[in-house]
Amino acid sequence: MQRLVVLGSTGSVGKNTLDVIKRTKGFDIVGLSCFRNIELLSQQIKEFKPKFVCVAERGLAKRVRQRFSDLEVLEGKNCIIEIVQRDDVDFVVNALVGTAGLLPTYYTILSKKRLALANKESLVIAGKIIKDLAKDKGVEVIPVDSEHSAIYQCLEGRRKEDVEKLILTASGGPFFDRGDFDNVTVDEALSHPTWDMGKKITIDSATMMNKGFEIIEARWLFDVPYKKIEVVVHKESIVHSAVEFVDGSIIAQIADHDMRIPIAYALFKPKRVSLPFKLDLASIGSLSFERPDFRKFPTLTFAYEALKREEKNLGLVLNVADELAVSAFLEGRMRFKDIFWILEKSMERFESEMPSDILDVEGEIERVRMGVLELISKIGG
Ligand code: MG
Repeated sequence: MQRLVVLGSTGSVGKNTLDVIKRTKGFDIVGLSCFRNIELLSQQIKEFKPKFVCVAERGLAKRVRQRFSDLEVLEGKNCIIEIVQRDDVDFVVNALVGTAGLLPTYYTILSKKRLALANKESLVIAGKIIKDLAKDKGVEVIPVDSEHSAIYQCLEGRRKEDVEKLILTASGGPFFDRGDFDNVTVDEALSHPTWDMGKKITIDSATMMNKGFEIIEARWLFDVPYKKIEVVVHKESIVHSAVEFVDGSIIAQIADHDMRIPIAYALFKPKRVSLPFKLDLASIGSLSFERPDFRKFPTLTFAYEALKREEKNLGLVLNVADELAVSAFLEGRMRFKDIFWILEKSMERFESEMPSDILDVEGEIERVRMGVLELISKIGG
């Protein structure tokens, strides 16, 4: 049985991954990692009996050690990088949220482990480095994100030269029909119409920055130019994405909006495992598709712009700026619409050269972080 590590096991994708494994019993869970939710981690340890765990926030590991005396408990950010490279690991699910996921992605590929990637930031920040390394090491990056899993499935067994374009579907988030973004409250922004996800990604859905990141993610995952990636708003979140071929045929992947379906595919592909989340097409009735409003959601333009000027490292800038802007909004230090302003200004001010070495990326993240924090402080936070 393949030995699996789940990074970020207490987050939304992590919990769903463990649920898929519980249902299918297809993997031996050897390692788990969390940021600081050691209560849930403890439950997971009891249930899945890993050999080792990693708690990223220092100081909490001691309590886990006291509870499980024969478990190997590591702590700190670097232990995540260590565990993906261990000889007793075959497969890594990277379900970390944010920039923290980048180095674990890099080292998983470097040590030639199988990788199911849910951490889109890895590709948004350093798509070229990750893609080049994967090619060099002969490692396939298997997408977990529902849209990219859909495209991946639609492309399987097809010839790349037959692809006309990738069609990324977007739910449009809670504010698609809202007139303006004045007075948006945190609760409103957190109530996503179809998907139940973590806070950061839910806000990113409301601004549509999530879709912007997915454009960048798709560019690197599937190695297509940005001009061949289109976003279509599809409120029902049933068509998870599609591929148009040169003959005019569009092949789409359709399923219930439950993350366990793309997760199971990433784990078991090309095999399909039995899951109970079936979709009754007749009861859905009709599906709708519309064009996104680029003026209302400039985040999509930001993403295309970042790809247009790829060498300017704007994916990294967007990612860092968004992470800080979203937390400032969630903490009440900034208005919702200020997120767009921060992103726009950050792109104008913090572009640089794309680093070719992963070790330089950390320095770049820090440089942009400092600049963005200053921008946020000007707003009043
Ligand atoms: Mg997605």
